[in-house]
Amino acid sequence: MGALPAILDPRSVIILAGLMGVVMALVVFFMRRSYPATIQGLDEWSQAPLMAFVSTMLFAARGFFPDFLTIVVANFVLYQACILYYAGSQKFLLGRRDTRGWTVLNGCLALAMFWFSSVKPDFETRLLLITLAVSALFFFHAQLYMRHEGRVFGKRLMIGLLLAQALVAGLRFLSVVAGLAGSSLMDGTWIQSLYISMYSFTVLLLSIAVILMATDRVHTEFEYLATRDPLTGALNRRAVLDACGAVFASGRRRMALLMVDLDHFKDINDRFGHQMGDAVLREAVGRMQRAIGDKGLLGRYGGEEFVVLLPDVGKAEAMEIAARLKQNIDEPFPADSPMAAVGSMAVSIGVAASESGMGSIGVDDVLALADAALYRAKAMGRDQVIAAA
Ligand code: GH3
Ligand code: MG
Ligand code: MG
Repeated sequence: MGALPAILDPRSVIILAGLMGVVMALVVFFMRRSYPATIQGLDEWSQAPLMAFVSTMLFAARGFFPDFLTIVVANFVLYQACILYYAGSQKFLLGRRDTRGWTVLNGCLALAMFWFSSVKPDFETRLLLITLAVSALFFFHAQLYMRHEGRVFGKRLMIGLLLAQALVAGLRFLSVVAGLAGSSLMDGTWIQSLYISMYSFTVLLLSIAVILMATDRVHTEFEYLATRDPLTGALNRRAVLDACGAVFASGRRRMALLMVDLDHFKDINDRFGHQMGDAVLREAVGRMQRAIGDKGLLGRYGGEEFVVLLPDVGKAEAMEIAARLKQNIDEPFPADSPMAAVGSMAVSIGVAASESGMGSIGVDDVLALADAALYRAKAMGRDQVIAAA
């Protein structure tokens, strides 16, 4: 089989793969500069294809440069590039990297490469060692993603690529065991060609997968920032009103809205300062969210006013949820809480609900109904839940 004519000249493929690596390194590098610092791993991911480029140029110089450079250094740099890809993934998924073990392994590999090239030259043993190490690294790398599965295409592409690369390196290992190693890197054996072509594709596709994953994460982060109130993490006014509009447009038969306003909140600010006021607001949101659960959405309408959107909830259940919400808010702050000095909060709630479809009335009308109910709750002495007439 090794006698098949070389369809792909290994040296040309190696050089092309390296150049592709440089282009991809540049793409990721410039992407990194325009992406927020919260997207981690892009540094490693832009350095990795550059290292891969250096190693491929060294491999391509086999026969022209001393073996020490084209075997020992080339393999070391290549494996270091693979480690960098892994480090990038660790930073991206876990926020920290630890690849020391793999670097130590790479050092040992380099010693072995030196031994089996300069002291006791043995192409087969070198191949066995390097393919086994590459296969293991890619497999562990793939496993990292499998533990952090998501429905993001980039992640799936990444897993596919890493597993394919682990498999091809494994096959290459087996081919050596089976005596199909060829006698040098530049031999055009079919498995050699497959290995090298696969490698060049991987450099390209890994960078594409990385770009897809990072773009998806930026998208998710921006979406979060655009829809959340930064102080409390509740939906912001626009997002909650959009959600109300969408629920209305869906033509549900039942839905309810609560307007919630903390009582005498200004006093808390005046007596304990705005920072304490902020802490109380955050605590209030947490307590309300626990009362709502997955029944609806909580949005900050403005200041210390909140809207609760309850799709598929009728009037009776809306009143129950409002009562539970009020009960949670009423709970005094525990003595060990930083807000203990405040004592407790109180809240007024207006409830508007529809059991028979909203008909011709719109979001604004229902909000106005809930608001009018809230106004009455305030007028009647606060600290109560009032249903819209
Ligand atoms: P009422 O019972 O009538 O609702 O009285 P209130 O004091 O709660 O209402 P008012 O509208 O008079 O005051 C609301 C206060 O909420 C005034 C404002 O300083 C405070 N506030 C609004 N947003 C924030 C915020 O983000 N942080 C803090 N600390 N205070 C805020
Ligand atoms: Mg208030
Ligand atoms: Mg208010």
